[in-house]
Amino acid sequence: MDNTGDFQTYSLADFFVPDTDDPIRPAPQFMEWRRQTAWATSLYEQSLLEGPVPRTALLVDGKRLPVINMASYNYLGLARHPETVAAAKEALDRYGVGACGSPILSGMTDLHRQLESRLSSFLGREQSMLFNSGFGGALGMLAGVLRRGDAAIMDSKCHISLVEGAKLSGAKVVPFDHNSAESLDACLTRTATSRRVVVTEGVFSMDGDMADLPTLTPVIERHGVGLVIDEAHSILTCGATGQGAGEHFGQEDKIALKYATFSKAFGAVGGFVSGPADTIEYLRFFASSYGFSCALPPAIVAAVLAGLDIAGRDSTLRDRLAVNSDYFRAQLAALGIDTGASTTQVVPIIIGSDRRLLYELGLEMRARGLFLAPVDYPSVPEDSVRFRASVTAEHTRQDLDEALNIIADVVVPRIEKR
Ligand code: PMP
Repeated sequence: MDNTGDFQTYSLADFFVPDTDDPIRPAPQFMEWRRQTAWATSLYEQSLLEGPVPRTALLVDGKRLPVINMASYNYLGLARHPETVAAAKEALDRYGVGACGSPILSGMTDLHRQLESRLSSFLGREQSMLFNSGFGGALGMLAGVLRRGDAAIMDSKCHISLVEGAKLSGAKVVPFDHNSAESLDACLTRTATSRRVVVTEGVFSMDGDMADLPTLTPVIERHGVGLVIDEAHSILTCGATGQGAGEHFGQEDKIALKYATFSKAFGAVGGFVSGPADTIEYLRFFASSYGFSCALPPAIVAAVLAGLDIAGRDSTLRDRLAVNSDYFRAQLAALGIDTGASTTQVVPIIIGSDRRLLYELGLEMRARGLFLAPVDYPSVPEDSVRFRASVTAEHTRQDLDEALNIIADVVVPRIEKR
């Protein structure tokens, strides 16, 4: 392999084929590519010296670099809210650091049980269960309910945790064109003899658009299939009370099984599934990422409970998030930046197919004090690599304006030149 540093020729997708005799050793070309692209991939796995808040600092080349942060999913600012932090500290003192075992064998705490029932009443569901990671929750939920011979009819932009959960179950993954009722209908007709579920997301994580539930649910109902929704990016941020995309579209009652994470708007970590009591009882034994993995740390559970109180009190944070997101998107559009189909706080800044340029711009923006995550192929299509900006309720107008100035100086001239 020549010229492995060339982003136009090679990406992570090229190293997914096995080409050594020993699975433990990756292809030598991979390490060569890593070495040659280290200048660019230094934008990944960055070290934050403070919280995931609008003004934070990165450790870059051994030095503290103050930045405006548009890379963290702390949508409502709950990660360092005084009430969530105080609740976590109190729980830490009372319960200690870890839960020290799987919920089935080693139990959990009364706080975990409180959170289960609070989530169920918040979402109007019979029962809820907690997972120690969002990814593990999505994976365990689909691997738990599906079996070989079943079909998972999934929006083509569904998150990898859902795809891998369906694959792990042995079910056939049948993607329908993003948000297309016609394509969904065709997939459901084609798989009519299998047991099926339809899977989609409240807010799509790389595009910031929402599942078009009003056009999809009549099709799903007509075929008599259950809808599973991933509200990772929409829980607490969408709908009048923060129940997610289902509430936003007045379609909550069309959703059979609801999944979301605590790692985004809740500002913590973990995930949960809410649904019919029988289904949740079943998943407690058949979602292996639940039954065979340690329960969430009690301090995290306490912080999530406090987050539910804060977000449930009124819609101030949600409203501020919407105002900030609308402002940021409108200003980017005025600069001539392509933000795709985004209508939410997830705002892509689409660069196109020049993958080298993506990293050059990322480094330049970071040097100017803006922390933005590059999203490269194969996470997004080859012709629309992008930055993924996360707007939060905590960003001030000044934070957003400074970020926009940096984008205007760094990105706009380079996009126009192409
Ligand atoms: N679902 C979606 C749509 C996501 O975007 C993510 C992570 N970004 C997950 C699930 C996994 O969640 P977590 O990061 O909490 O493990």
